[in-house]
Amino acid sequence: MSASKHILLLPGDGIGPEVVNETVKVINWFSQNGPTQFTTSEALLGGAAYDAVGTPFPAETVTAAKKSDAVLLGAVGGPKWESLSIAQRPEKGLLGIRKELGLYANLRPAICFDALADASTLKREVIAGLDIMIVRELTGGIYFGQPRGVETLPDGTRRGFNTEVYTSPEVDRIARVAFELAAKRGGRVCSVDKANVLECTEMWREEVTRVHKESYPQLELSHMYVDNASMQLVRNPKQFDVMVTTNMFGDILSDTASMLTGSLGMLPSASLGAPNTPGLYEPVHGSAPDIAGRNLANPIATILSFAMMLRYSFNLKNEADQLEAAVSKVLEQGYRTGDIMQDGMKKLSTTEMGEAIIKALT
Ligand code: NAD
Repeated sequence: MSASKHILLLPGDGIGPEVVNETVKVINWFSQNGPTQFTTSEALLGGAAYDAVGTPFPAETVTAAKKSDAVLLGAVGGPKWESLSIAQRPEKGLLGIRKELGLYANLRPAICFDALADASTLKREVIAGLDIMIVRELTGGIYFGQPRGVETLPDGTRRGFNTEVYTSPEVDRIARVAFELAAKRGGRVCSVDKANVLECTEMWREEVTRVHKESYPQLELSHMYVDNASMQLVRNPKQFDVMVTTNMFGDILSDTASMLTGSLGMLPSASLGAPNTPGLYEPVHGSAPDIAGRNLANPIATILSFAMMLRYSFNLKNEADQLEAAVSKVLEQGYRTGDIMQDGMKKLSTTEMGEAIIKALT
């Protein structure tokens, strides 16, 4: 009897429903042709939820997400909802679901498909074969630390302040995520901090070193200051295997790394919490209102997010490899969507790209 897994779909806004639709076709293909059956259901999130039920983050969505084995999200947001209050904005739904599921580890791979190596702003030799994984701590650090705010001092001067704060268990669990990933990849972790200036990240460095020594001595650990890391990512990104860092440094470094590989339309992500809680998988891009509803969006970022789901939530490594190979094959065949278009290539719509990937799987 084959195992069955349930995936909650949150198509969201803009191009979200279009890219999720193509991914559902891929999910169904694996359900029919792989060892695991997948069932799916849909729930509301973001602007679509606000329009339907008056809140971007309905309670039913939280319940459905917690009951699922994994969640696939399209994108949320768009100009239509920009004038709403913060509490009603689509982004509230995104932050809400991350918080409710306790997703503390954000995995952002930066992979350069050989067929796209000439599409980057960097030279082919710098990025060809690139395969790095950035692990960003997602629920702590300066974005959440207290005290925070802006105050007016007695002399009328305004003073703004935020607090970088981590506890040792928070560092311990994110370090373990990075080491576990490295054990299945190149065996190397680079921890990024600013230990020369910030006490909090000095503690981060000590804790990562302790976890390494206690539990993963067979792997290689290095440390790098964030200013150097940002420079090295552009100078020689292939020196890295897994990078692990704080919420704010990860926010910035993962965006730098994403541009090494070309278009936003190619970049998947995963956000993971405690073992046995559902992970959230989503493309890095937003709802792209400028191309929404026109069958122009690149569905590959979302399809590769499903590949991450196969790998990290369902432990289906072969199937994840198979799907990534199918994407690579389609690109080698010269098929492109508008965002990754190059001279002499064949331009496909969103649905045609989905079909090409299914064909490459069969
Ligand atoms: P965006 O990622 O939506 O778009 C940036 C540019 O990239 C646009 O020109 C768009 O057409 C293009 N693009 C993005 N994804 C593409 C794809 N799959 N295929 C082809 N082209 C693609 O960022 P933005 O324009 O800054 O934001 C638009 C809306 O999305 C905003 O409301 C923003 O808040 C929201 N947003 C949501 C998320 C999310 O849901 N995780 C992330 C970022 C932005």
